[in-house]
Amino acid sequence: MNKSGMLIVISGFSGVGKGTVVKKLVERYDYSLSVSATTRAPRPGETDGVDYHFKTVKEFQNLIDYNGFIEWAQYVENYYGTPKKFVEDELAKGNNVILEIEVQGAMHIKEQYPDAVLIFITAPNAQTLKERLEGRGTEDAKVISKRLKRAFEETDDMVQYDYLVVNDDIDVCVDDIHSVIQAESFKTSRNAEYTDNMKFELEVIRKTYN
Ligand code: 5GP
Repeated sequence: MNKSGMLIVISGFSGVGKGTVVKKLVERYDYSLSVSATTRAPRPGETDGVDYHFKTVKEFQNLIDYNGFIEWAQYVENYYGTPKKFVEDELAKGNNVILEIEVQGAMHIKEQYPDAVLIFITAPNAQTLKERLEGRGTEDAKVISKRLKRAFEETDDMVQYDYLVVNDDIDVCVDDIHSVIQAESFKTSRNAEYTDNMKFELEVIRKTYN
């Protein structure tokens, strides 16, 4: 079947492990991962162009002005945005594109791309989430506190997502997300072109029997 690419938005609480989940998802299965731009400083081990396109505030502002993002948002103290060109090119090629973005951005995507599949990754419980945030050891207490506050606010937005997936065991979580995307791709509404072709071909073949 010749299907067009799907836009898949993955969000989740800070510290839930979505970065690792998404990394494994694209290693294991055939998805195109969008690399966002951000004004945040790189964390140890992060590479420009791989984890993010790291930008100054001025560079980021220029990209906004030149319509370079399909969405952008401020999160805690930094700006994050999804580059337009990569996403549009990949969808046009028929590839399934993964965006790992926060809630405000996900809502903007839903407005612009009503067919996008929105998946929210959550933790088994709040205590686990707090421990994961602390265990990461990359942010100080003030930032962790802000991220927990933001997580509290984000619980109100979870209902806007199509699917809720718990990250307890990472491999199970990755496979659960892949299953969700697979199921979505088989929806009749996403295969209208196939249905039309089938109808046309059946009519052609039927006529040869007359
Ligand atoms: P972090 O600083 O931990 O890498 O990311 C902070 C938050 O920004 C995460 O929730 C992440 O999903 C989100 N984020 C990353 N890239 C983008 C983007 O392009 N747009 C939006 N709206 N959020 C993003």
